[in-house]
Order: sequence, then C-alpha cells, then structure tokens
Amino acid sequence: MTKSMSNQPPPAVRAEGVRKSYGDGTARMEILKGIDLTIHQGELTLLMGPSGSGKSTLMAMLAGLSRPDTGSVSILGTPLAGLDEDGLNDIRLRHCGFVFQGFNLFGALSALDQVRLVLDLVGVPGREIDKRARSALSEVGLDGRLHLKPSALSGGEKQRVAIARALAKQPAILFADEPTSALDRGNGEIVTRLLRHVAHDRGAAVLCVTHDSRLLPFADRILRIEDGRLVGDERPNSRQ
Ligand code: ADP
Repeated sequence: MTKSMSNQPPPAVRAEGVRKSYGDGTARMEILKGIDLTIHQGELTLLMGPSGSGKSTLMAMLAGLSRPDTGSVSILGTPLAGLDEDGLNDIRLRHCGFVFQGFNLFGALSALDQVRLVLDLVGVPGREIDKRARSALSEVGLDGRLHLKPSALSGGEKQRVAIARALAKQPAILFADEPTSALDRGNGEIVTRLLRHVAHDRGAAVLCVTHDSRLLPFADRILRIEDGRLVGDERPNSRQ
C-alpha cells in the first residue's frame, strides 16, 4: 500500500466477493453471487432491484446482521469476520443507525423517550441524553410532538422519530430498508430529504434499499442488483 493510500480514511462499508446461499442439496439457492462494493460517507446511496434480487440479504451482510458464506465485509476498516457476536453488536451500536419500513418504535414510549433510550444504550452520559434527544427531534421537525406516543403520530411523523433515533447517536452509517414505502407522497418526500440531509450535512453514509422511484432525484448514487449481482452503479444527479 502506498503512503498516500494509507492516509485515506477507511470507507464506511467495503464488501469484497460476498456470496450467500440458502438451503441444502437440490434446494440450495445462491442469493448473492459475488458482490464487490464500497459505500462512502457523505452520500445517499440507493440500492434498487426487483423483488427477490437479494437487496435485503445484501444489506444484512453489510450491516453485520448476517455473515457471508465467502468474501468479506468491513465497517470503517474493521473486518467483520474477526468479530464475535458481542463485537458485531458493539460496532452496530456505536456506528450504525437503522430505519425500517415499519418504523420499529416502542408503542409505550413517547417520541422523546424512543430517542433517549437509544442514547442511554450507546452510553451517552445522562446529562447529555435529554439535550441530544431534543436536538435530534428538532432536526426532523418534531419539536411540538415530543411527548406523543406512536399511536398519536402519523406515519410520516413515526418515520421521522425513527430517523431522529438513528441520527441522535451520530452514526457513521445509516441503513434504511424501504423507509418511504408506507408513506404518502408528501411524507415520503420529507423523509427522503431527511435521509439526504443525514448524508450531506451529517456526513453519514446512507444506504437505502428502496423500490420507490420518488427517491431517485435525491440520490447521489444508485446501485442496481439483479439476481444476486450488481448490474448498475450510477451517479445520475452529479454535477460535472
Ligand atoms: P429482496 O430484498 O431483493 O426482495 P431478499 O434478499 O429478501 O430479496 O431475498 C432474496 C431471495 O433470498 C429470495 O428468494 C428469498 O426468498 C431468499 N431468502 C432470503 N432470506 C432467506 C432465508 N433466511 N432463508 C431462505 N431463503 C431466504
């Protein structure tokens, strides 16, 4: 490795030769067929492709939620293969945020407490938790909704709580799985703009699995996967 290369910060996520199969014998299906990929901080990257093409499986590998059969994944330069379950949990807790289609909020907790809980888990000192949680909720435009539980929030507001919960811990990487699929046009756009904000203004690597073409104009990079292979890698909105 040259000196100049060694001075570069490691990429947010790097996958090399990732393969994954499910099943045995004649029922064995190869889902990922050799994926090489680098995800960069400061960018909103979309992962698109037909249903069943391997998007969720790939995201699970990149987030260390599942291990490849062969090949390697590194997060911020740390190879995941060398980590046990505690090590994987630790790297996810410290560096990764997650946003899901179904919001994954706790029904009994207010918006403020959803965010406070995660900051407590990450080990943020008690006196800072409230300030950081309020600041994250303000960033997603929910100052007036801090004390409401999920049942009193709209779908768009719930997803904004989930984004606040993810960004409060200042993750290097935000994984989003179909974050706008359950939302109408207006709320889908608010959430999309927030994901881009997390990438551009917070410097996170945002990787978003989506079918939603409404996200396309906001993306820095669009990866396309078909039948377990990457078949496209474009930056359609880049200013030359
Ligand atoms: P996508 O997210 O693109 O819709 P997935 O990654 O969810 O695709 O799934 C790709 C294929 O892998 C599908 O055929 C699915 O049935 C299969 N698959 C995913 N997870 C498992 C699993 N845990 N066991 C067996 N097959 C699985």
